[in-house]
Amino acid sequence: MGWGLPAPAATTNRPSSDGRALQARPGQFRDVPGARPQTQATLPRETSGLRTFLRSLLALLTLTCSAQLPAQTFRFPTGNHALLEPGGDEKFLAPTPGHDSSAGGFGCVRSGNRQMHEGIDILPLHHDRRGEPTDAVLAAADGDVAYVNQRPALSNYGNYVIVRHRIDRLDVFTLYAHLASIAAEMKAGARVKAGDTLGRMGRTTNTRTSIAKDRAHLHFEINLLVNEHFSRWIAAQDPEARNDHGPWNGRNLLGLDPGEILRLQAAAGGHFNLLDYIRNRHALFRVLVPQTSFPWLHRYPALIRRNPTAEREGIAAYELAMDYNGVPVQAIPRARSEIQGAPGLRLLSVDEEEQRRHPCRKLVFKQGQAWVLTAHGKELLSLLTY
Ligand SMILES: [Zn+2]
Repeated sequence: MGWGLPAPAATTNRPSSDGRALQARPGQFRDVPGARPQTQATLPRETSGLRTFLRSLLALLTLTCSAQLPAQTFRFPTGNHALLEPGGDEKFLAPTPGHDSSAGGFGCVRSGNRQMHEGIDILPLHHDRRGEPTDAVLAAADGDVAYVNQRPALSNYGNYVIVRHRIDRLDVFTLYAHLASIAAEMKAGARVKAGDTLGRMGRTTNTRTSIAKDRAHLHFEINLLVNEHFSRWIAAQDPEARNDHGPWNGRNLLGLDPGEILRLQAAAGGHFNLLDYIRNRHALFRVLVPQTSFPWLHRYPALIRRNPTAEREGIAAYELAMDYNGVPVQAIPRARSEIQGAPGLRLLSVDEEEQRRHPCRKLVFKQGQAWVLTAHGKELLSLLTY
């Protein structure tokens, strides 16, 4: 490509283990022995030998508890944790009619792999006498409520809640859909702690075919937000388009695979880092955009890669590495001297093998011998850089 910069390191879906220091986040409990409040004050009247012994015992217990309870970036959003059991998918993921549990997973799993499912469908553990699910739906991490929709007829998500989190220097948005009911205190702006009850599992939706009782599930997403000016952008694109949810429209949220994240963080034993996970995601394609200041860059500066040439000469454009779902997993500033031709919107490269593996988002297309952005791909980049 003639960038004069080494290609990004081999991409992998595993978080890198480069020994980066763990960043304790406000409100998040990291498994640092001794970080918890000491209970020394409860032991003032013991003899000194006994006190030392009890202190050692307490320290040992603290360590043991820490080892058993590694800090988790996300907790499961219901009591169903079967995903972590060997062969547990069938107990965890709700299949679609006529398909196996994989259809409840994330990715190109619908309509014979032609349609994207941008979250995971989690089965209930509890039912009432009428067979309706009764599982509590829980906040996956500390954060604040960004949006609540209690008009199920206005969305295929039905009743849904979006919670905003600050995790590993990223604004992350978890979404909980098809709820039967939403807890009264869950209003936009409300603070939530990981594990707080947001509502009750249900099967609300506005789709023509309703969700059958035996398919009731929580649709759960982990997203990045594309553009806070979504409402203005959609009005400019299509003045007739309805926009009932402002920026909290599914089109303005780019999903990551919650099942993969929950599994990886369990395997990482408290050392999972969401930023590393995203930065190391496999890129489906790379694209050059002429804009040098757009909301994504300001909201996700941690995803900008350093480039000394552009820092020295000035930034003329950004190269974006996008995963198969269209998440810009890296943004690389480019100097004018690094760009061949005019710095306009241009597709730079496509990983054909990745496109074969995950074709359903249809962001790029092979026209004869040349890869081009599809209308979907151009639309995503238009919203991203608006
Ligand atoms: Zn779903």
